[in-house]
Amino acid sequence: MKLRSVAELEPRDKRVFVRVDWNVTLGKALQVVDDTRIRRTKKTILDLVERGAKRVILGSHLGKAEEGRSIRPVVEYAEGVIGEKIEFCGASSSCKGIEGKIVMLENLRLNPGEDNNGEGYVEELVRQADCYVNEAFGVSHRRAASVVGIAKKLPSYAGYNLIEEVERLQTSIDDPERPLVIIMGGAKVEDKLKILELMSQKADKLLLGGKLANEYQQKGLVLGGKAEVLLPVEGDDILDIGERTREIYAREIRQAKTIIWNGPMGMVEDKEYKAGTHAIYEALMENEPAEVVVGGGDTLAAIRDEKHLERIDWISTGGGAMLKLIEKGTLPGLEVLKR
Ligand code: ADP
Ligand code: MG
Repeated sequence: MKLRSVAELEPRDKRVFVRVDWNVTLGKALQVVDDTRIRRTKKTILDLVERGAKRVILGSHLGKAEEGRSIRPVVEYAEGVIGEKIEFCGASSSCKGIEGKIVMLENLRLNPGEDNNGEGYVEELVRQADCYVNEAFGVSHRRAASVVGIAKKLPSYAGYNLIEEVERLQTSIDDPERPLVIIMGGAKVEDKLKILELMSQKADKLLLGGKLANEYQQKGLVLGGKAEVLLPVEGDDILDIGERTREIYAREIRQAKTIIWNGPMGMVEDKEYKAGTHAIYEALMENEPAEVVVGGGDTLAAIRDEKHLERIDWISTGGGAMLKLIEKGTLPGLEVLKR
C-alpha cells in the first residue's frame, strides 16, 4: 500500500494538524506507564518543526469517551519525551488564543463529534490547520473526525511511524517465513474471535490464551483454516495458562520463523497471573532468528519491564488496528492517505 508520506509535505509557514495516538496506559497517580506510543511520534513532530512549520497542532484521544478523561497529564509527560515545549489548549476543538509552536488539544473524544465523525466537529478541526498528518496507527481503524473526516478535507499525509507500521505488518502476514506462529490472547473477545478464522488460514500454528481461549472453548468454536489450533490444556475457565501449556507453547515458538503476538495469556494486571505471558516472552527471546511482531496496548504494558525488548523486530503501537489491518488489508484511516 503506497501512502503519501509526510516527507512529501512542504510544511514551511503552514499550520499542520498531527493526529497522534497518545492513548497511553495511565497508572493510579495518572503517571504514564508505557510511552512507546509517544516516542514513536517524535520523529514526525520534530521533523515538521525543523522544516519550518508555523505551528504543529496535536490531537489525540485518551480512553473511552464516557470516561471523560483529560489528556493534560500525558501532555506534561510528553514534553520530556519530545524535548520541546507543548502548550496545552484545554479544549478539544480549538487552540484559539494559545501561543506556541507545538500545541495540543484536549482529549478529542470529549467532543462527541470525534467518534461519530460529525461534520461540525470536522469543520472546527479543519479551520485551524492547512494540512493534516496521521501519526496515529492505533486508531486508524476508526472512522473518527480526526482520522478520516479531516483527512478528506485537507492535503493529508502519513507520518513516518504509520508508514513503517503498515509495511512491517503487511510483510509479516503476506509473505512470512514459515512456520508462522500466531499467538492470540487478551480479553477483547468479540473483535478477536472475528479474526481468528483468517488467522487460521494464514498461520501454521495458532496458540490461544487469555480470556479469548476460555471463550473459544466454551463456545466450542472450530476454525476452517489449515493452522493447527493449540489451546490451554488446563481447561476453559482459567486466569492464566499453566506450566504444561507454557511448555507446549514455548516449543512451538522456538521452532517458528515468524511470530505474531497480540494479547496477554492471562489477567496480567494481577502479578499472580502474569507468569504465562512472561513465559511466552522468554520463549520469544530464545528464538533470536525469528521475525517477531508484537502489538496491543495491554500486551505491551505487560512486557514493558522485560529485558531485551529491542530484540523484538517490530512493536506495533496498535492492537485493534493491527488486527484489522491483518484482517482487511487496509484501514479507513489509510484509505484516505493512499497515493
Ligand atoms: P491487547 O490490548 O494487548 O490487545 P486486550 O485488550 O484484548 O489485549 O486484553 C487485555 C486484557 O485481557 C487484560 O486486561 C487482561 O487482564 C485480560 N485477560 C487476559 N486473560 C484473561 C482471563 N483469562 N480472564 C480475565 N481477563 C483476562
Ligand atoms: Mg487492550
